[in-house]
Amino acid sequence: MSAARRPLVAGNWKMHKTGPEAREFCVSLAALVSDAGPVDVAVCPPYTALEASASALAGSPIAVYAQNVHENEKGAHTGDISSAMILATGADGALIGHSERRAEGDTDAQIALRVRNAIDAGLMVVLCCGESLSTRQAGETEAWLTRQIRSALEHVQAGDIAHLVIAYEPIWAIGTGETASPEQAQEACAIVRRVASETIDGEALRVLYGGSVSAANAAELMSQPDVDGALVGGASLEPGPFAAIVAAAR
Ligand code: PEP
Repeated sequence: MSAARRPLVAGNWKMHKTGPEAREFCVSLAALVSDAGPVDVAVCPPYTALEASASALAGSPIAVYAQNVHENEKGAHTGDISSAMILATGADGALIGHSERRAEGDTDAQIALRVRNAIDAGLMVVLCCGESLSTRQAGETEAWLTRQIRSALEHVQAGDIAHLVIAYEPIWAIGTGETASPEQAQEACAIVRRVASETIDGEALRVLYGGSVSAANAAELMSQPDVDGALVGGASLEPGPFAAIVAAAR
């Protein structure tokens, strides 16, 4: 990982933890990660636990990101929440375009609008991309990532760089226990950086790897030159293993 890009380790809790459970987790994590050193750390609780997490982590170096955000500021969107609502919980960012959200119907066009709206509102955005196993086996990973990144960055401008991180998450490695090899992660993250460079300063862009990251494999994955941190699912649900991944990023 480049010294110029501050690493980020973010934990995606998916649909786990109530508010009280989140509070308990955050108190434990803050004690373990009281000084993350030169590493940015974030947790991504469900919407209902954002406020409890943000208040438990106030004064700690750990940020709180939502797992998605709607592209509109308000309106008839039952079940969705806006950037302003996320900010009002005390959270500071959002994942956008996670493959589990794309599988539930979030479209490329919505994702591009969500990125724009969230950045305009002042949120940090972790934009997710990644190919399926069949796309990889067909030798179409590069074309797939190129299309996803160009589409998601359609409304992004060079000046947005401080609010944008991209996470490369191969779908075949998410929640499967199967991790991309360090070489595969490096190759794909370099593609992401190159395509993003059409829009923003790619050398300043943080590109994360996600997909069955654990305390055992994190250091090797994050030592790749184009891997600037990790988006962690399952291994972020307990404070100890997640803190170990943060330590590996140092
Ligand atoms: C994720 O949800 O973004 C993820 C990478 O999950 P896991 O680490 O469990 O594969």
